[in-house]
Amino acid sequence: MPMVIDGKAISTQMKEELKQKVADRKAQGIEITLAVIQVGKDPASSVYVGNKKKACEYIGIRSLAFELEEETTEQELLSLIGQLNERADVNGILVQLPLPAHIDEDKVIAAIHPAKDVDGFHPQSVGTLCIGQPGFVSCTPAGIIQLLKRSGIEIAGKECVVIGRSNIVGKPMALLLLRENGTVTVAHSRTRDLKEVTKRADILIVAVGKPKMITKEYVKQGAVVIDVGIHREEGNRLCGDVDYEDVASVCHAITPVPGGVGPMTIAMLMHNCVESVKLQE
Ligand code: NDP
Repeated sequence: MPMVIDGKAISTQMKEELKQKVADRKAQGIEITLAVIQVGKDPASSVYVGNKKKACEYIGIRSLAFELEEETTEQELLSLIGQLNERADVNGILVQLPLPAHIDEDKVIAAIHPAKDVDGFHPQSVGTLCIGQPGFVSCTPAGIIQLLKRSGIEIAGKECVVIGRSNIVGKPMALLLLRENGTVTVAHSRTRDLKEVTKRADILIVAVGKPKMITKEYVKQGAVVIDVGIHREEGNRLCGDVDYEDVASVCHAITPVPGGVGPMTIAMLMHNCVESVKLQE
């Protein structure tokens, strides 16, 4: 049986540490505030936003909710972000994605002040990550680094393969593994002979967005497998991009879905909110 990397337990541990940091800040008279903007009423987005608000409440961060109508114009949204950028009592700004089709997401992300970009999606945040300067890091890949470190898995010198090259998961994941001195390969839909590439991995990060695509044929015996995917199967059960039962028979360690990467994303958002105070100082 492989080691099951328990994202729920690790995220709880992180949230307890953050709770203490928030309390310390409060004792210095500093209240940390996150502004959360949702446009429209997409049910999945509402669940994510609700979970973020709950996490804020739990660790003692004040959250301000801006629930805007689906018909909100791009200009109205940009103007709200402009006001929040100016507000000294707002430390972090989060715009829940996806946005309705009539709003340009890239423009919206770029409008958030980099010192308040707690999602780590702003081009400046991506740039600082790339050149190793302080800045916010996208929450899901940052959470994966914490999962590995807190499970005692060494990254330095390891063959790391990331499947997926999205701006929010694959690319920042590759940069973070490189920062931790892994030897990194990024695979994508145009990669030739994917199995040959993934079988080199000591650490395989799967962010391909295809339910249960990765079976044991893609995995080296004894590898560590991190499953970023999240999908709803028939019967409403959740599953990942990895065929868990199949891969568990060959790997050394694996993240489950649910209870692996998912809970870490919110914990890292909370971490970024706490760090925002330092960046703004
Ligand atoms: P995207 O759809 O943006 O990216 C998927 C990537 O996989 C692309 O780079 C694509 O390549 C590559 N890909 C697609 N098909 C193949 C294939 N057959 N072989 C090799 N590569 C392939 O997804 P995201 O990065 O946004 O998310 C990935 C998964 O993670 C999704 O299931 C998403 O729901 C989940 N997710 C979970 C989070 C969490 O908190 N747990 C947070 C964010 C995402 P190409 O670039 O060539 O098209």
